[in-house]
Amino acid sequence: MRPVSRRVLAQQLANVIARSGTAACQGRGQWWSEREVEHAAATTRSAAVAAAAPAMELCARCPIVASCTELVTLDQYTGLAAGAAVFRGTRAPTSRLRNAAAGQVSVPVREAG
Ligand code: SF4
Repeated sequence: MRPVSRRVLAQQLANVIARSGTAACQGRGQWWSEREVEHAAATTRSAAVAAAAPAMELCARCPIVASCTELVTLDQYTGLAAGAAVFRGTRAPTSRLRNAAAGQVSVPVREAG
């Protein structure tokens, strides 16, 4: 049997999360993308933390943060997710500056939910 690729596993998990309807960020795709863009553009640690704070408040009360953490790792996500800044699947404090941490990384756009 062929091993299942990381990408397929990530898609399967994303589907499960979407169908659960329990993500605290559900339906906030545009709003979340704006927070990610603001966080990515931050040039100081305090500005990065402030930009991420509204999204992190949602993550702090999200019932599926464990699944979300697994997904961002599988998906090699870059952005804000699972209560952290994420750089190609690796979680970091929101004070970490995107450009300094990961070079020229594009900012993914979360689908409107
Ligand atoms: S942990 Fe955060 S990013 Fe992940 S589903 Fe919940 S609210 Fe969304």
